[in-house]
Amino acid sequence: RPRALSGAQPTADSYHLGNYFGAFRQWVALQDEFEAFYFIPDLHAITVDYDPALLRERTYIAAAQMLASGVDPARSALFVQSHVPEHAQLAWILNGITGFGEAGRMTQFKDKSAKNGSDNASVGLFTYPILMAADILIYQADKVPVGEDQRQHVELTRNLAQRFNHRFGPTFTVPEAHIVKATAKIYDLQDPTSKMSGSNASHAGVVDLTDTPKQVAKKVRSAVTDSGTEIVYDLAAKPGIANLLSIYSALTGREIAEIVAEYEGQQYGHLKVALGDLLAEFVGTFGDRTRELLDDRAELDRILAAGAERAREVAAPTLELVYERSGFVRPV
Ligand code: ATP
Ligand code: MG
Repeated sequence: RPRALSGAQPTADSYHLGNYFGAFRQWVALQDEFEAFYFIPDLHAITVDYDPALLRERTYIAAAQMLASGVDPARSALFVQSHVPEHAQLAWILNGITGFGEAGRMTQFKDKSAKNGSDNASVGLFTYPILMAADILIYQADKVPVGEDQRQHVELTRNLAQRFNHRFGPTFTVPEAHIVKATAKIYDLQDPTSKMSGSNASHAGVVDLTDTPKQVAKKVRSAVTDSGTEIVYDLAAKPGIANLLSIYSALTGREIAEIVAEYEGQQYGHLKVALGDLLAEFVGTFGDRTRELLDDRAELDRILAAGAERAREVAAPTLELVYERSGFVRPV
């Protein structure tokens, strides 16, 4: 079977609806067709200011929410990045073939470092895409399910794989991004021109998967929509309504056109109330499942240990091959 690989950072107290639709739902959909490796990138999480106790707790929450989303540890390897040291080991090798200018063109670094003044950004934040390339290449992954914001990093990964293969002989599978257009970018409910993001200062427009049903219904009811009254899908002219329709469609599996037809002649408020109710029910169920999983830490530990073991079975031979191709003398 071809391989799929993806991760989502444990940098907030919860994942949000963008992570769920943009990433987790695709992860779950790929589990049968692909040998899947899904992980919690704790090594990536320390590239910005963080608190160790919080990181530990968020790592468990991350695992629980991935499982609650439908990641099945019987079919897919679910693990913590730092449990598989080969990620960091390969990243160091890739550092040597990545151009400084090339890394400097990554827009995520530019955006995130600009937030606190780029002089204060860590070197780790700068080299983050190189570690991400290692995350992918160490499993010889074919497909990388991500949201639109990660496209550039996957492109860098492809370039590094090709470069290494060209210089040192065929070693890496050149991966492809798997971006599902309809949910590639879920927008902030309060600012429907910017993406829903866990690191937003305000979560008024971010639907967190740990929100209560009440909170969610309220967030949707207070979503920013445009002037006008007609419910139509128009991303440029009506980004707020378009975002609500995308979420509605993703949640129900119904076509946007069908939903628009159903709401013909109705007001924005009708759509918001209906979607708010649907989402409230969704987070209610999701929250129950997550709490149940979090109540049994020993079981979470077992799942993550088994996942790491499976991951290392693939990662270790890849690293051996890379070391050999690189000209390193191996210990006897
Ligand atoms: P940050 O804003 O701090 O980067 P994030 O919310 O983007 O955090 P990540 O860990 O960077 O979270 O992303 C995890 C996965 O979720 C990635 O595949 C990313 O592309 C996807 N994703 C994140 N936000 C969205 C969104 N608004 N819509 C669709 N997919 C998203
Ligand atoms: Mg992101």
